[in-house]
Amino acid sequence: MLTNRINTLSESITIAITTLAQELKAQGKDVLSFSAGEPDFGTPQVIKDAAIQAINNNFTKYTAVDGIPALKEAVAHKLKRDNGLEYAPNQIIVNNGAKHSLFNLFSATIDKGDEVIIPAPYWVTYPELVKYCGGDVVEIQTDDTSAFKITPQQLKNAITPKSKMLILTTPSNPTGSVYSKEELTALGKVLEGTKIIVASDEMYEKLIYDGEFTSSAAVSQDMFERTVTINGLSKSVAMTGWRFGYMAAHNSELIKATKKLQSQSTSNINSITQMAAIKGLDGSADADIEMMRQAFISRRDEAVKLFNAIDGLSVLKPDGAFYLFVNIKEVSNDSLNFAKDLLAQKEVAVVPGVGFGSEGYFRFSFATDIESIRKGIKRIEEFVKEL
Ligand code: PMP
Ligand code: GLU
Repeated sequence: MLTNRINTLSESITIAITTLAQELKAQGKDVLSFSAGEPDFGTPQVIKDAAIQAINNNFTKYTAVDGIPALKEAVAHKLKRDNGLEYAPNQIIVNNGAKHSLFNLFSATIDKGDEVIIPAPYWVTYPELVKYCGGDVVEIQTDDTSAFKITPQQLKNAITPKSKMLILTTPSNPTGSVYSKEELTALGKVLEGTKIIVASDEMYEKLIYDGEFTSSAAVSQDMFERTVTINGLSKSVAMTGWRFGYMAAHNSELIKATKKLQSQSTSNINSITQMAAIKGLDGSADADIEMMRQAFISRRDEAVKLFNAIDGLSVLKPDGAFYLFVNIKEVSNDSLNFAKDLLAQKEVAVVPGVGFGSEGYFRFSFATDIESIRKGIKRIEEFVKEL
């Protein structure tokens, strides 16, 4: 009954483990979950107020497929103010979360047999969606010795005549690594003369703890023209459930093509979310963003210190996002069983590295209160000692 296409798609492992942890909790188990890629903070009041006002004003009808003009303007202003990027409204589309942006982008650009270069470890969704759209995944493996970042030489080696796209995630999920301006410039140089599209996922842009953030599209005119910038508000202002994401591209034909797909599939995103999202983009929530960032810095520092004190485990201090990618190679070469046993024996949920394409690690989200982080790492320490 089902298509081959759907049969080859795997369920999101990050969502699967988070759901399992929630079920165990509901059964009364004392589960500590570090699997969710979701801030534990509430959405800022100024954003919620805008949504309530939208409802009371009956702003509850269909809107333009690609987003209301005021929202697209807010996106354009944000990209100019924060990233130094100039996009006109016809170069921007608003989607139901950045995951939906990626789906629309891949659907519009990837044909059967096209190769998509994905640095590993990667966010779980990329290879699955690429394969679903008929593309072939070309992985570039990285590890902690290069802070999980690809080098220009590695990129050069991965390019073939079939290369259609490179996916860059900065800051990275699951490692928190951030590409510097120099590193992005060097990668951009390798792409010169090719037709390769860069999909730059900048979802964690506001969660930078050390160094500076640079958009891939901002490093050269050549990169600006080939890059599709993808972003949203799920992580920066804790709006995961509202479903808002967007993409911006120099090539307005590409944006038009994704709009066509959206017009026949989901139509516009929720009208109330659109009004709320303007407040998430225009600076109204900046104090809330800074409060969350400071909390993440304290949690990161504490968690990194505690993990590195455990015999057999090691972790790099991430420059951004809210994940640690913990190296377990001294104690296990099977991250899936490590995570399963940890959940069964110590009631601690983490995501195995193998789900992100890198064996020998697990992902630990520190988007949780500091007491739970301390308690959880203590349990992980006991678990490792008993191995
Ligand atoms: N990109 C990255 C790197 C992510 O971690 C996520 C996780 N939610 C997304 C995109 C998608 O976010 P959303 O669909 O909630 O906007
Ligand atoms: N992106 C988040 C994560 O990596 C949310 C879950 C998902 O969308 O897969 O955990």
